[in-house]
Amino acid sequence: MMHDVRRSFPPLAVLLASSLAMAQAPAPVPTPPDARAAAQAAREAANAKLVDEAKAHRAAWTKAPADEVRAHPDAAQFPGAVPAEAPRLQHAGVIVSPDINRWRPKAAWWHPTGLYAPAGEVITIDVPEPARAAGLSIRIGAHKDNSNPKASKFRRTPVNLTHAWPLNAEQVRVASAFGGPVYVEVPRPASPGGEPISLRISGAVAAPLFVLGVTTPEQWQAARAAPGPWAELASPHIAITVPSDRVRSIEDPTELMTLWERGAVLVHELGGGEFTSERLVWDPAISAGSMHSGHPIMCQGGLDSIVDLAKLKGGDVWGFFHEMGHNQQYGGWTPKGQGEVTCNWFPMYFRAEALGLPPFDRAEKWTRPETPMPRGEIGTGNPGGAGHFVALRIWRQIHAQFGWEPFRAFLRSVREPGYVAPATDEAKWDDMLVKFSRAAGHDLSPHFVAWGAEVSDEGLNRAAALGLPPWKHPGAPGP
Ligand SMILES: [Zn+2]
Repeated sequence: MMHDVRRSFPPLAVLLASSLAMAQAPAPVPTPPDARAAAQAAREAANAKLVDEAKAHRAAWTKAPADEVRAHPDAAQFPGAVPAEAPRLQHAGVIVSPDINRWRPKAAWWHPTGLYAPAGEVITIDVPEPARAAGLSIRIGAHKDNSNPKASKFRRTPVNLTHAWPLNAEQVRVASAFGGPVYVEVPRPASPGGEPISLRISGAVAAPLFVLGVTTPEQWQAARAAPGPWAELASPHIAITVPSDRVRSIEDPTELMTLWERGAVLVHELGGGEFTSERLVWDPAISAGSMHSGHPIMCQGGLDSIVDLAKLKGGDVWGFFHEMGHNQQYGGWTPKGQGEVTCNWFPMYFRAEALGLPPFDRAEKWTRPETPMPRGEIGTGNPGGAGHFVALRIWRQIHAQFGWEPFRAFLRSVREPGYVAPATDEAKWDDMLVKFSRAAGHDLSPHFVAWGAEVSDEGLNRAAALGLPPWKHPGAPGP
């Protein structure tokens, strides 16, 4: 049965517009709590309806034959329109390396192509045998998140707007109802030393693409004017996806991407693991928070600094490296309450090593208590009600005295083959205590205990058995 994807579903533009109108309706008179709760419930019910519509639409277009996919009415608003007169390129060459660094542990690397698929238009890929054998896929779209259903309004169609199709035939034809940047997905496992693979892609338009070490400034001067509405700035270990109008005024992204590349290298240097690649995508409506980790790292915040070299150099980097830090927390080595804490080792490291700034420069309202924190207090993630940055002090104080080596030594240890994360939070704290103590050349038991770390008697005995002088930072809680 022929299935017209465009006509099968109500235009979300209408629904989004009504949602926006509702969200923007003024509320000058304070409403009683039960009225507010009713309004919130109504908004969430309306959101749920929009999400259901969008999910049904997505289920249809991602399965439909390419010729039957039509542009979604909201695609022109987000991710954006492609000028009708922009040339649709024929047989554009794309070369991908099958042994490119990839993200952990199962995700495919999205190889940028400098191409943008207009919404509802067919993209044709000529796939040589090596590409079929390598298990490559074609992906259209960078915006993978479902929007937060509790949002006061949806700033875009609230579901995953990307889709990937396997390159499993000599010629593959695909189309996206929303359009988006075109990527070639290179799957795990890696094929080290594999020959580069050439593909030909027809029907897409050019989009701004800069690859550090590949694109010359002269080439960039031409590339930045390309009509695709989303741009990619890439280096060997990181890629950034932002609206094209954010990069068209950049004369030469070399210094910018050199700094980002240095950041990605530093994250993995501190993290001590397999060298993988990061991707940051700006999105006006992510599923939760201002940014979240993963591949890609989705950034609802940070658009003003992500491609602004001066702001990055000034230290406006915390969120990006906080999320890259989360990407380094895999393996289960972080104890409870430290999830939003140990990830911050990474922005501290980047600020210090790449920017020459103090690793941490926020003022905190906190008075050191006269008694040690109760055991387990730091495991709340909010010791004494003072928040993550006070919880981070246990580490900032170790860094201030002993530098980065204890952190590197610990993180190297959790990447060693055969490492199995301790099963309990107590055992995780013990593991940290012993490894940090050994690398610091001091028994850090007094410091850990003062901060209320959940170390066990056995852990304290193991640290004491190292025969090292005891140490506690003078700024730790207690006398
Ligand atoms: Zn976080």
